[in-house]
Amino acid sequence: MTPIKALALFSGGLDSILAARLIMEQGVEVEAIQFVTPFFNYQLLDDREAHRERMLHSYGINVVLEDISPGYLRLLHNPQHGFGKNFNPCIDCKILMFSRAKEMLGERGASFLVSGEVLGQRPMSQRRDTLNLIERDSGTRSLLLRPLSAQLLKETLPEARGWVDRSKLLGFSGRGRSAQIAMAARYGISDFPAPAGGCILADPILGRRIEHLYSSDSLLRGAEITVADVRLLLIGRQFVLPGGTWLILGRDQRENDVLARLAGPEDGVLLMEDWPGPTAVLKKVGSTTLSGGERQELLNLAAAVVVRFGRKLPVDNSCGRVTCTLAGSRTLLSALPLSDETFAHWGLL
Ligand code: SF4
Repeated sequence: MTPIKALALFSGGLDSILAARLIMEQGVEVEAIQFVTPFFNYQLLDDREAHRERMLHSYGINVVLEDISPGYLRLLHNPQHGFGKNFNPCIDCKILMFSRAKEMLGERGASFLVSGEVLGQRPMSQRRDTLNLIERDSGTRSLLLRPLSAQLLKETLPEARGWVDRSKLLGFSGRGRSAQIAMAARYGISDFPAPAGGCILADPILGRRIEHLYSSDSLLRGAEITVADVRLLLIGRQFVLPGGTWLILGRDQRENDVLARLAGPEDGVLLMEDWPGPTAVLKKVGSTTLSGGERQELLNLAAAVVVRFGRKLPVDNSCGRVTCTLAGSRTLLSALPLSDETFAHWGLL
């Protein structure tokens, strides 16, 4: 008989680890799917294989990364079920993930889905009515088994078919963690991330920055939001120049390198080639909506900010030489450091 395979939605948190292990214990092959967007887990894409090996070694679970960035960036414009306390669209986020996981069943030869949700653990997204709504809108009803709370929920297909034994599943509910921690100890798992960590959208400060990107006075002025835009928003020093143009400066060499890589075709990249200082990205300064004079004014301002944050120049009142690369051509700008009072209110909160 072909062994039954399940896909487990894997956040990397303890509940998702335990749910996968509980089903593996019943002889079901489990492949864990960890979703990636620029708001969570994106850095894992740098080395998928190293992450897979780390998860296998730490938890005995085979983890596959799945990048859902494009759909997620669209979803944030108007999530049907709204936002949580910050810019976190938890219900629509789960619907998107479960819908994609359902599509993956056929692609990966699996028969049902597993999730580590615990009834009543989160005030909003894990209430019984919300769990039902997520199942309904993602089309996963009866295909989705939540092993940690299964005995409190309706029987699902894998239980009805006898692929898993319902009597060996659990009836956890509420916010307490002691049962999960005891269970982790039984599996020999001691290092696991804190619950609910790692989603930028749920962070009050970073979530607000992302919200600003999606607002009607967006830094991108209606242009389509890309993964690179979101990543730019999360590093370096952030400024909005008079008129609304977005400027980002690196704070160290790593950020300078990342900024240079993330710059798009309409973005200007500024740096002092012969003097220590930040790399800066001036977003959309190559846009055709700007006149030549407006563009030059913005570039001069950005160059003055770059000189201000560079190493102090050896002679007072001397200009720094800033190279700007835009649309493949390089120009040399000369700028005095901008006074702190001038840009005191340009910081992006
Ligand atoms: S906290 Fe973030 S990752 Fe988690 S469900 Fe909410 S939006 Fe999705």
